[in-house]
Amino acid sequence: MIKAVRGTRDLLPPETALWNFVETQAREVFRAYNFQEIRTPIFEATELFARGVGEETDIVSKEMYTFRTGDDPRWVLATKWLVTRPKYKKIEQLRRPGFGQVFAGLREDDVWEIVIVEIGAGGPKLAALKKMQAERQSLASAAGERPSRYVLVVPSSEAQRVSGLINQDGIEVQGLEMPEGYDPPESLTLRPENTAGVVRAYIEHKLWDRGLNKLYYIGPQFRRERPQKGRYRQFYQIGAEVIGPSSSGSEHPIRDAELLEMLDTLLRRLGIADFTLYINSVGDAQDRAAYNDALRKALQPVVGQMCADCQRRAVTNPLRVFDCKVPEDQPVIATLPVISSYLGEASREHFQNVQALLKEAGVAFEVNPRLVRGLDYYTRTAFEFTHGALGAQNAILGGGRYDGLAELLGSPQPAPGIGFAIGEDRLVMALQARASEATAGLDVYVAPVGEGMNRKALRLAGDLRREGLTVELGDRSFRLKKMFEAATKAGAKYILIVGENEIKADSFSLKNLATGEQVSVPRAELAQRIREQHSR
Ligand code: AMP
Repeated sequence: MIKAVRGTRDLLPPETALWNFVETQAREVFRAYNFQEIRTPIFEATELFARGVGEETDIVSKEMYTFRTGDDPRWVLATKWLVTRPKYKKIEQLRRPGFGQVFAGLREDDVWEIVIVEIGAGGPKLAALKKMQAERQSLASAAGERPSRYVLVVPSSEAQRVSGLINQDGIEVQGLEMPEGYDPPESLTLRPENTAGVVRAYIEHKLWDRGLNKLYYIGPQFRRERPQKGRYRQFYQIGAEVIGPSSSGSEHPIRDAELLEMLDTLLRRLGIADFTLYINSVGDAQDRAAYNDALRKALQPVVGQMCADCQRRAVTNPLRVFDCKVPEDQPVIATLPVISSYLGEASREHFQNVQALLKEAGVAFEVNPRLVRGLDYYTRTAFEFTHGALGAQNAILGGGRYDGLAELLGSPQPAPGIGFAIGEDRLVMALQARASEATAGLDVYVAPVGEGMNRKALRLAGDLRREGLTVELGDRSFRLKKMFEAATKAGAKYILIVGENEIKADSFSLKNLATGEQVSVPRAELAQRIREQHSR
């Protein structure tokens, strides 16, 4: 049997009704705050996340689903090179696995030696090539054979420059072109989060020109984390971003406060009360530089006792030490300096304004000076909402400001922004207790009994559905007992009997399946009666 892949799951009814409920409420709240929906692709260029989220974050360094697509230029070019040079007769060595396949169509003695040297966009590794050539030549002359030929594979944009360099070195260069229809190789990644994609789209479509600066999204994200309750490899986020040129006020603390107030409103509207909002300021680029220096210093004497990841982070990106989950490292982490001591005047003032505005808006919060969030792009305000009933994975949503991200991703002008992502899986878990309230459920099961009653029942069910009720329709070929069982199993609140006597009297037996109470109700009053009873 083929099962769903580890860390993924099927969302089934009736739980899907809860997902719809959450999404509908979120859309309504977003509309009230003038956010509009954006849908970005599920996969993007790997580089977007490497640059945006940060190379040293857990997400980018360990958790991304990355795959290469396109034709391998080495195969295509090497094949072409060989086919056009039939004078090379002797096969000496095929070094790369997979080449055998490519050359399967050639006769063995058509092929001469191939050495593949990859030259990346960063510039040709000429030194490596020369070393190889020297080795080969000495080997070849020792064996009394001819020296090797080389196939150089370079990105087409680099081809001319590389040819020039190699020619200077006295190595023979054969010009090779990418064949027509060639699909260049790319590295793609299933999105692990959606902010980078939204900011990319904002820049690509110059959304500032259209005044689109409040965007929300709902959709799946992918991270290769160790699955556990509340943590999946395909999970869902509901998020929103406020982004825009500085002139649009996107940097102002009022945007931070408004966004947090919106989240507070949404959670309450969903009936979630047991939550805590933690906020912190992670400073701007300058504060962070000073803080990183301080962290490096503080880490120097203790980092030897820490995990391998932390030892690396201490050098490359010391802030990420706070993402460490290794229990033995936590006592060391607790002694490290906190960012609040390194905030410059501007960041400090911004943070104080955010707090004052939150108080004004009646949004309760706590300052957590150790909250840094696991993504590099955050600046100044960072926040997280946790929920009491969720256990270890209790972060229900997180977010923060990301001034500077747009420029990092190539925006021609600064576009400060702030956003959040709600973990929808966890939000639904927090709501599960209220599932029965949120799911509308089945109001009535219409049960035709007696000859010719199917037609009448079909009409009556249609009438009730048009009145806005949720109705399931039985079938006379079932016996009444079976329909009672079906109605109970489907969770119907009522069963409505449609028999000859009822049709004649135009009044129908309506039985409450929970209480067993049965009454006769005139057709015209049915819908109202069903609604009334269950709103009681
Ligand atoms: P982040 O994008 O890391 O800031 O996460 C934002 C929110 O998404 C978190 O607070 C979680 O509620 C949720 N989340 C992150 N990773 C996962 C996961 N692997 N499974 C389920 N929810 C997640």
